Amino acid sequence: MDFRLTEEHEALRQSVRELAREVVAPVIGDFYERHAFPYEIVRQMGKMGLFGLPFPEEYGGMGGDYLALCLAIEELARVDSSVAVTLEAGISLGAMPIYRYGTPAQRRQWLPKLTTGEALAAFGLTEPGFGSDAGGTATRAVADGDDWVINGSKAFITNSGTDITALVTVTAVTGVNPDGSKEISSFIVPSGTPGFTVQPGYSKVGWCASDTHELSFDDCRVPAANMLGERGRGFAQFLRILDEGRIAIAALAVGLAQGCVDESVRYAKQRQAFGQPIANFQAIQFKIADMEMRAHTARLAYYDAAARLLAGEDFKRAAAIAKLYGSEAAVTNAREATQIHGGYGFINETPVARFWRDSKILEIGEGTSEIQRIIIARELGL
Ligand SMILES: Cc1cc2nc3c(=O)[nH]c(=O)nc-3n(C[C@H](O)[C@H](O)[C@H](O)COP(=O)(O)OP(=O)(O)OC[C@H]3O[C@@H](n4cnc5c(N)ncnc54)[C@H](O)[C@@H]3O)c2cc1C
Repeated sequence: MDFRLTEEHEALRQSVRELAREVVAPVIGDFYERHAFPYEIVRQMGKMGLFGLPFPEEYGGMGGDYLALCLAIEELARVDSSVAVTLEAGISLGAMPIYRYGTPAQRRQWLPKLTTGEALAAFGLTEPGFGSDAGGTATRAVADGDDWVINGSKAFITNSGTDITALVTVTAVTGVNPDGSKEISSFIVPSGTPGFTVQPGYSKVGWCASDTHELSFDDCRVPAANMLGERGRGFAQFLRILDEGRIAIAALAVGLAQGCVDESVRYAKQRQAFGQPIANFQAIQFKIADMEMRAHTARLAYYDAAARLLAGEDFKRAAAIAKLYGSEAAVTNAREATQIHGGYGFINETPVARFWRDSKILEIGEGTSEIQRIIIARELGL
C-alpha cells in the first residue's frame, strides 16, 4: 500500500495548482457574482489538456487515468468549485459516456472536440419529476422510420447551454421490458437539433459561474445512429457513469474542504483580536486541526475508490463512501471556515463565503447523501 503520487501525477497536481492560483483565483469572484461562464479560463484549461486527461491520445486525450482527472479537479476546487465542476461534468458526465458506450463513428465524431475543451457535452438524466428515482424517466423516444422522436424534459443539466456545448446525452423510455419495467435507452442530441430547447439558466445558491439549465424536447428527431450503446441499456450505462463520477465529485469536495483550511490558516494568522492573532487561540487551532483531519481522511477515501477503479475491481461501495464522507466534510469545513472569518466570512467577496455557498450541492448532486447511504447499506447486504 502506497498513497504517494507518481512523479507524473505530482507534476500534474503542481501545474493545475498554479493555474488555479494564477489564472482562476484573481478573476473568478467577478464571474461568480455576475453568474457568468468563464470561457477564457475553460479555454486555458483545454489548452493545458485537462479535458483530455483520462482519454487515449488517439481521441486527442492525454493518455492519463481517472486519478489524474481527480487530482486536477481537487486542485481547481481548492480555489473554485464552478470551474472544477465544469471540468468534472465535461469529462466524467459529458465525454465519458461517449468514450465508454459510443460506436467507433460516434467516438471519432465527438471525442476530439471534447477532449481538447473546444466543445462541451452534457449528461441529461434528471427530470423535473424524477431525480433520485431517475429510473422513473418520463421522457420518451419513439421510433419513426430511421429516426427516433424524443419528447420530454430534463432538469438541472450542467454544461448544457454554453456557447461551446456540442451535445447532450439523454435517457428516454423506448419501450417496456419483458418484466413490465420501462425500457430506457440513451441518445446523443446535438445542440441546435430542431425541437431541442435550452431554457434560461437557473439562479443558483452556489456554483454560480457554472452553466445549468432545464432542457425541453418537443418532437425532437435524431437519427437511429445517435442511440448511445445498446437499446434498453441506457439506464444501466448512466448508473455506471454515476458510480465513477462520484469519485470525481468526492475529489471536488476534498478540494473545497482543503481550500477552507488554506483560507482559515491564512486568515487566523493575520486577524487580530484581544491584542493577538486569533491563530493563538486554541479554540481556533482545534477547529482548523479538525478541518485538516476531515480533508485528509476524505482524500484517502477517494484515493482508495480511484485505486479500485483503476485496478478493475468493484468500486461502488468505496465511491459511495468517498462521496458521502467528502461532501459532508466539505459542508462542515465550509461552515467552520466561515465561523473563523467572523463577519467577513458572510461577505461574498471573501473566498470562504463562496466555499460555503458551493458546499451544499455536494450533498445533493450525483446522488444525494441519502442515496449514498442506501448504496452502502445495500452493499452490506441490507
Ligand atoms: C447545480 C446542479 C447541477 C446538476 N447537474 C446535473 C447534470 O448535469 N445531469 C443530471 O442528470 N442531473 C444533474 N443534477 C441533478 C441532481 O443529480 C439531482 O438534483 C439529485 O440527484 C437529486 O434529485 P432531486 O433534486 O430530484 O431530489 P429528489 O430525488 O426529489 O430528493 C428529494 C429528497 O428526498 C430524498 N430521497 C429521495 N429518495 C429517497 C429514498 N429512497 N430514501 C431516502 N431519501 C430519499 C433525497 O435524498 C432528497 O433529500 C444537478 C443538480 C444541481 C442542483
